Amino acid sequence: MTTVLAGELSATSFEARQNELVHALLAAVPPRILLHRSEDTVPYECDGLAAYRKVPLAVALPENEAQVQRILQVCHRLGIPVVPRGAGTGLSGGAMPIRDGLVLSLARLRNIVEVDPYARTATVQPGVRNLQISEVAAPFGLYYAPDPSSQIACTIGGNVSENSGGVHCLKYGLTVHNVLRVRAVTMEGEIVEFGSLAPDSPGLDLLAVLIGSEGMFAIVTEVTVRLIPKPQTAQVIMASFDDVEKGGEAVAAIIAAGLIPAGLEMMDKPATRAVEEFVHAGYDTEAEAILLCESDGTPEEVAEEIDRMTSVLRKHGAARIQVSRSEPERLRFWSGRKNAFPAAGRVSPDYYCMDGTIPRRSIGLLLKRIAEMEHRYALRCMNVFHAGDGNMHPLILFNGSDLDEWHRAEAFGADILECCVELGGTITGEHGVGIEKINSMCVQFSPEERDAFFAVKRAFDPAGLLNADKAIPTRARCADYGKMHIVRGQLPFPDLPRF
Ligand SMILES: Cc1cc2nc3c(=O)[nH]c(=O)nc-3n(C[C@H](O)[C@H](O)[C@H](O)COP(=O)(O)OP(=O)(O)OC[C@H]3O[C@@H](n4cnc5c(N)ncnc54)[C@H](O)[C@@H]3O)c2cc1C
Repeated sequence: MTTVLAGELSATSFEARQNELVHALLAAVPPRILLHRSEDTVPYECDGLAAYRKVPLAVALPENEAQVQRILQVCHRLGIPVVPRGAGTGLSGGAMPIRDGLVLSLARLRNIVEVDPYARTATVQPGVRNLQISEVAAPFGLYYAPDPSSQIACTIGGNVSENSGGVHCLKYGLTVHNVLRVRAVTMEGEIVEFGSLAPDSPGLDLLAVLIGSEGMFAIVTEVTVRLIPKPQTAQVIMASFDDVEKGGEAVAAIIAAGLIPAGLEMMDKPATRAVEEFVHAGYDTEAEAILLCESDGTPEEVAEEIDRMTSVLRKHGAARIQVSRSEPERLRFWSGRKNAFPAAGRVSPDYYCMDGTIPRRSIGLLLKRIAEMEHRYALRCMNVFHAGDGNMHPLILFNGSDLDEWHRAEAFGADILECCVELGGTITGEHGVGIEKINSMCVQFSPEERDAFFAVKRAFDPAGLLNADKAIPTRARCADYGKMHIVRGQLPFPDLPRF
């Protein structure tokens, strides 16, 4: 990739600041948890949005909460910005370092504190992987429902900070609906708790404020999640459509019929073709779009729901319907969807994953607009999405070693997000704002709304050091974006020289 943001510090002041930080940290924590040589810190220069990179002053890998407190206290005293990091799978640059800051990796805090099968909860440290929670709950017949496609690697700390979603969130809710309690450390090093083990907790619902705050309010050090019983059985329908708009209409029709599938996902033809070559999921690669529609519960519930969903899908133009006949076949159908992003990586040197949400009835319209944009920006796009939630993931294919292609991909992505806002949706469904969508925030929110966001940020982090410069744009940034704003692929006043 080519886009490297310029550092804020000159090489000399970078070194001086680094020495000051490392010296102060070594007085507070053991040297084994600190990295500051460039060969050690370079691996942390980006997250899953590899187009943006910066090398930090240092990386700290605390082994316990007390070390997290001491590190934050040192950084607070020195005025050093801190970027928390889980597994670095984020797709919006949320864990990308700040050049004059510290990366605080929570990856070594990975203890399972307790699994309580009676209360149906698990309490874990933030570096525990999403899938690991279901693995430790499995002997009790329980699991943790939110299932991002990155669940094999991403951490619960990252999930809490992004309010992550997944295939099963339509029926079982997002991270925010499945977390009961979070313990965290503020930038000043104070321990705070949000929520409680009881179904409700007193006071303002700050737990919901913290979830999705993208590492800007506090460092998550412990999470208690809700576990639910594993369904007795599940089956998935694969329905083929000869027109993407028909597929979009079928999604809206399923929900309108009062059905809440355990998963309702859609992929267009370029996506099914890329995936099929990669994982051989058994997809219909001739269809313009396929829907995956899951039912779970008792065998009787599943049989009835599959019947009802099949008849809605047929009525709304499904050309072919295949229902999984065994658990391996069901998992094979899902493996295609779960591997859609890596499959994009096989057919293009780079891909840019967008994440916007729109009302379900507008799915067909947005797909049509994206097809027009493919011509305008001369770039291909594959579409994969959590259709039931109206959460779209267009994957723009480009070659990152060609700067012009990358700029076109960026403008293409911004255009898609603006289209989502225009259709009554939002600029993010689950991947967060990070550094990626900070300009799009100027389009979605008024100056007054953004000021209110900053007021909340200041209440948690008065010094403004936690994940500074991410997620909320300043008025000045939005003014600059307004001047540079590309609409429908056109810069305003294109003849004017730009500096
Ligand atoms: C192939 C692929 C598929 C994906 N599929 C999905 C999907 O289906 N659904 C979905 O929602 N996302 C998906 N993602 C995005 C990503 O996996 C999620 O956003 C995930 O929650 C990030 O977790 P992480 O541990 O990697 O966090 P990171 O990327 O390290 O960090 C994410 C954000 O959380 C902050 N943070 C991390 N840990 C803490 C902490 N302990 N305290 C405070 N702040 C913290 C960081 O500063 C950053 O802002 C996918 C990513 C990839 C690469």
